[in-house]
Amino acid sequence: MPSAQSSSTASAALSVHPSSPSVLTAQTFRSTARVADIELDEQGRANYEAARRSMPAQAIVDMAALKGNMKRLVEVVGGPESGTAVLGVVKADAYGHGLVPTALAALAGGAAWLGTAKVSEALLLRRAGIGPDRCHIIGWMSSAPAAPLDQLIVNDVDMGIGSFAGIDAALAAARRTARPARIHVAVDTGFGRNGFMPDEFDAALDKLVAGKQAGLLDVVGVYSHLAVADAPNNAAFVANTDDQVTSFSGFVDRMTAAGVPPRIRHLANTAATFTRPDTRFEMVRPGNGLYGYEADPCMGTSSDFGLTPAMSLQAQLGTVKRVPAGQAISYGRTYSAPQATSIAIVPLGYADGIQRSASGFDEQGALGIEHLGGPVRVITKNGPRLCRVSGRVCMDQFLIDLHGYADDLDVREGDTVQLFAPGRGADDLEPTADDWAANASTINYVIYTCLRNRIPRLYLHARDVLSESDLALMDPRSILS
Ligand SMILES: *Cc1c(COP(=O)(O)O)cnc(C)c1O
Repeated sequence: MPSAQSSSTASAALSVHPSSPSVLTAQTFRSTARVADIELDEQGRANYEAARRSMPAQAIVDMAALKGNMKRLVEVVGGPESGTAVLGVVKADAYGHGLVPTALAALAGGAAWLGTAKVSEALLLRRAGIGPDRCHIIGWMSSAPAAPLDQLIVNDVDMGIGSFAGIDAALAAARRTARPARIHVAVDTGFGRNGFMPDEFDAALDKLVAGKQAGLLDVVGVYSHLAVADAPNNAAFVANTDDQVTSFSGFVDRMTAAGVPPRIRHLANTAATFTRPDTRFEMVRPGNGLYGYEADPCMGTSSDFGLTPAMSLQAQLGTVKRVPAGQAISYGRTYSAPQATSIAIVPLGYADGIQRSASGFDEQGALGIEHLGGPVRVITKNGPRLCRVSGRVCMDQFLIDLHGYADDLDVREGDTVQLFAPGRGADDLEPTADDWAANASTINYVIYTCLRNRIPRLYLHARDVLSESDLALMDPRSILS
């Protein structure tokens, strides 16, 4: 997880990305007529219309971007023959992008492994039809003894093991299934979270060696996680990462000396994959980079790393109405319209995963609590305009002040607005998840990962990226093109 907090304002965070004609904009989607302009075929258009009927908001994921990002990550570690494999981290429903479609796009881009935190999601990948002939899968977090480790073994899913109870559970599952458990030993190199501590590792090694000798454990790998790799400009944090790398080597040496040498060492997240070649070993585990974002804005923008954000979030406006100057808006009266204006309802709220901390308080500062709300791109007859969450984010909706009369701007109920997208720079006013993160005092990961599943996920370029047999593993209603 990122450690550094961006202090950049939303406007400063609006970053320039190369425009990609393949990505849908609010303008493209303003009306159904415009959908035809991006060459959705009849089925794609029907899926889009059906999704809009079910929910006036859509998360549109560009599978070509996901594939391209994975290709980029494979290239960064030296290509497919480099000896460093890339594991695509698809935990938490692929950071909100949809587990199975994302996994398939990652494989198309050259991922050799897939990984999730919860073992249930690792199993879902196998059950969806991604077999052991396609890739290795690891689930690295379980709570022994109740975890379904037997299921992992029979479905050829590797498991992360970082506790004594975990080793015991793996041994028991191996006995029950009469197959060795493929395990990756989690070691705590300084993160203070998962894995064995250095002082308890001798006892762990005794158990691992015995398990291996009994034919119950296949010790495939060893791994750890970095705490501050996303702050390459902070000397103290770089030194912390150095310490973690040294500690990791110590664990590896002890395993080798004990007779359980790990075949695959993995340590790097997205940030380290890009900035710390000494952490790449036999495998890297990027997550956020697959989705097109750098780990922390302090590292630069997506395009600096050759990445393209894959998700766009859009919604169709609810009620649009005029209010007088001074009208207080939403719970807590934290925003008052500075002038007579029109306000519009965006039908997404914190129950959809819109961060309440992206609420917008008095833009004029009259209440002394100025806080800019999350950005929303609205298409007016004069071109795109950046509006902001005005007042508190509610459970199912928030409001935006259009700063003008809707009639004059030609903004109507049902119009599509965009919350974030790959980003088209200041002129085209296309906000990114980084902008939302800055306005919500959080990190970009939270912005997309927390979007609830009642927002339909729709996929672009699925047919370009996937084989026929992979395409058949997707929900056909989710495919736009
Ligand atoms: C989430 C996670 C990753 C991926 O981190 P990113 O910063 O998204 O690249 C890698 N390894 C582990 C153990 C994780 O939990």
